Amino acid sequence: MNISELTFDPSKCFIGGEWVSPRKNKTISLTNPSNGQILCSISRGDEQDIDDSVQEARKAFEGVWGNQTAVARGRILMKISAQVMEKADYLAKLEAIDVGKPLKQAKADALALSRYMEFYGGAADKIHGETIPYLEGYTVYTMREAHGVTGHIVPWNYPMQIIGRSVGAALAMGNAVVLKPAEEACLTALAFAEIAQSCGLPAGALNVVPGFGEEAGAALSSHNGVDHLSFTGSVHVGSLVQSAAAKNVIPVTLELGGKSPQLVFDDADLDRALPFLINAGIQNAGQTCSASSRILIHSKVYKEVSNLMRQRYESLQVGAALNDLDVGPLISKRQKDLVNSFIRSGDDLEKLAEGQLSQNAIQDGYFVRPTLFGKVPVNHKLAQEEIFGPVQTLIPFKDEEDAIEIANGTDFGLVSSIWTTDGSRQMRLAKKINTGQVFINNYGAGGGVELPFGGVKKSGHGREKGFEALYGFSKLKTVAAFHG
Ligand code: NAD
Repeated sequence: MNISELTFDPSKCFIGGEWVSPRKNKTISLTNPSNGQILCSISRGDEQDIDDSVQEARKAFEGVWGNQTAVARGRILMKISAQVMEKADYLAKLEAIDVGKPLKQAKADALALSRYMEFYGGAADKIHGETIPYLEGYTVYTMREAHGVTGHIVPWNYPMQIIGRSVGAALAMGNAVVLKPAEEACLTALAFAEIAQSCGLPAGALNVVPGFGEEAGAALSSHNGVDHLSFTGSVHVGSLVQSAAAKNVIPVTLELGGKSPQLVFDDADLDRALPFLINAGIQNAGQTCSASSRILIHSKVYKEVSNLMRQRYESLQVGAALNDLDVGPLISKRQKDLVNSFIRSGDDLEKLAEGQLSQNAIQDGYFVRPTLFGKVPVNHKLAQEEIFGPVQTLIPFKDEEDAIEIANGTDFGLVSSIWTTDGSRQMRLAKKINTGQVFINNYGAGGGVELPFGGVKKSGHGREKGFEALYGFSKLKTVAAFHG
């Protein structure tokens, strides 16, 4: 794909319905992770551009956008959904060259963005309050209202999906949005703004300011004109954003990292499990918050499962995003170096298998061979820390109790999965495993636009996706009327 095919200028911000240069006219170079070459310049927005955006969002919230009916908001989101669907191939190519994800995976993300807009468009007029029986002479009811201006800080790994689940839900409830995409990948965020405007989203309802986290991101998290923050990213930055939100006493949703386990029992259907065990670890080159980086295996089937995984790993092909192989490059040289240092930390462990670099995986791309480690001690950093690369660790367990202890034995609690055909065990473990989502005999449930998602412990708090996000992106008002 040629960057000159873009119908918007990536070096501009989208503020108040206009494409504008950042006030200081500074830019950042965006790199194609598949070849290390510069793709284009994007804007380096800062405090002033964020302030402009918050003011435009406020105007929209108090004006045209905030006064739309719920059904009118929903219809605009539905139109956006249809446009995203129509442009899915274009958006997928943009995401592929920007993030480095294989084309098929990027296409799935574009379709997920369309589905989020459809889901939240349809939900916009279906969320309501309730009446509460109370003292004699009173009628009491609750109303769900928009927060006002919502700030959204998103990472580079799944721009379209994260925009879909957070911006979609926020707009459905009538909030006006300021979006700060990641400096490493923001083209689809800008393309989304262009599509939204063409579908009739009023000026100021969505503002997009690309820029560095410490500049634009920090300015958005501390701006006193923002009423709610949604942050997806690392634990370290999440705690900075939460501190900034605390100073303004505003709610914040944190979607952070994970060290998500899959538990394979000796009665598991291994034919069904195998693709999930591996794909959940290597999808998007392992740069997924819910990546399953720990595979816990009952000792009776450890040898069989590790052999099956080893064989599949050896056939994995790594290459440029547009070649659409199993695994693409990592986002940056920094990420590649970080993941390689994790792999080196396992030099004394059993390295079971590595994937293959395809011939066109050129040296300047940020490629790392998927790596599978066997019998990893539970306290090893490979079994405890988020790697954010295509690396999985196999850990044997003795029995159910042992499996639960290992599964819950990290700082994180985002997602888990249980592979067993024993129904009672499924129910017991679903209760005992401390993660925001538990899957039984699957992993990820096909994306799960409808399913509330979020973490416990250092994986964050608050829920996005599904109807639950609509509660997060709104506030509840109680009205108590005395009429005698
Ligand atoms: P990151 O925290 O470095 O960056 C995320 C976003 O925060 C970017 O837009 C960045 O510009 C911004 N940012 C950076 N410093 C900031 C600051 N001081 N103030 C405000 N904003 C700032 O994370 P990353 O390395 O880009 O992404 C990887 C992390 O994100 C991983 O830990 C991963 O697990 C997590 N993640 C979580 C989810 C989820 O839904 N739970 C989804 C995707 C990624």
